[in-house]
Amino acid sequence: MKWPAIGYLRASSLDDIWRARAEHGDAAQLLAGGQTLLATLAFRLSEPKVLVDITRVAALRGVRVEGGVLRIGSLTRHAELGRDPLVAQHAPLLARAVPLIAHPAIRNRGTIGGSLAYADPAAELPACVVALGARIVALSPQGERRIAAEDFFTGLLSTALTAEEVIAAVEVPLATPASRSVILEVARRSGDYAMAGLAACIGMEGARATSARLVFFGVGSGPVLAARAGAALAGRTLDAAAIAAAQAALNEDLDPPGDMHGPPEMKRHLARVLLQRAIATTHPATEAAA
Ligand SMILES: Cc1cc2nc3c(=O)[nH]c(=O)nc-3n(C[C@H](O)[C@H](O)[C@H](O)COP(=O)(O)OP(=O)(O)OC[C@H]3O[C@@H](n4cnc5c(N)ncnc54)[C@H](O)[C@@H]3O)c2cc1C
Repeated sequence: MKWPAIGYLRASSLDDIWRARAEHGDAAQLLAGGQTLLATLAFRLSEPKVLVDITRVAALRGVRVEGGVLRIGSLTRHAELGRDPLVAQHAPLLARAVPLIAHPAIRNRGTIGGSLAYADPAAELPACVVALGARIVALSPQGERRIAAEDFFTGLLSTALTAEEVIAAVEVPLATPASRSVILEVARRSGDYAMAGLAACIGMEGARATSARLVFFGVGSGPVLAARAGAALAGRTLDAAAIAAAQAALNEDLDPPGDMHGPPEMKRHLARVLLQRAIATTHPATEAAA
């Protein structure tokens, strides 16, 4: 389908963004990688009057360690995340997520800020930032505020960003030698959005888990932090009994809707399988759960 007639502004600075929004209000929409937005325009799912291209705004770029966290600029493209040495060292979960996102052409344009702002419930990066306990840095003419990732996603395709704010960056706690992370998903074809997926960060002390943040995607209206299942693993050796307890706890953590892939019970089954696989991947010696 063709795009509707639409205005285009290229912002070179944050001030350009604030000016465009002051002039056009809700009719102005930010354009980052365009990989979601342009499709929604073609299908008339969104109808902005002006696109404000933010890809030249230097303040939204860059990956660096600063103040004890890894700060990833919102314009960082998926492909850049996948090859950045700082990301590989300090937030390897994000690097592992990249090959699961769509196809190379989309990964070369799509940005982490666009993915978090769009908040697709089956997307990988929203689940990863919740699993990592990251913070989203939101910027407006009034200044900066930081939002815990688990509070950022507020429902289907919705976030805690206000109409005045842009995502400036994501701040990720630095990985430690005791932390292990994994992302796994089940999709019909390589590159498709997941039918169900799991991003997990597990803290270890010897053979014992000290903490487990298990975040499922494709099974709810946004990333779902499975707090009870995580608690069932914390403080325990990750043996078959611990895995079975965590799988049982998923019944309370997850309330998946049926969708084009299948009914809720199928999603629950996939979540249990993903949990078992995640533990087996991070702890290869683990006895398989029944
Ligand atoms: C065929 C196809 C398959 C895909 N498969 C997957 C997949 O498997 N997994 C996955 O996770 N994603 C997938 N995607 C989506 C892809 O990852 C997108 O790149 C991403 O979701 C949006 O990023 P973007 O930079 O392209 O954002 P855009 O499309 O430019 O913008 C998306 C939305 O975010 C807003 N926005 C953008 N940047 C900011 C910002 N800094 N602050 C505030 N708002 C902002 C825009 O105004 C718009 O509303 C797929 C896309 C396509 C076309």
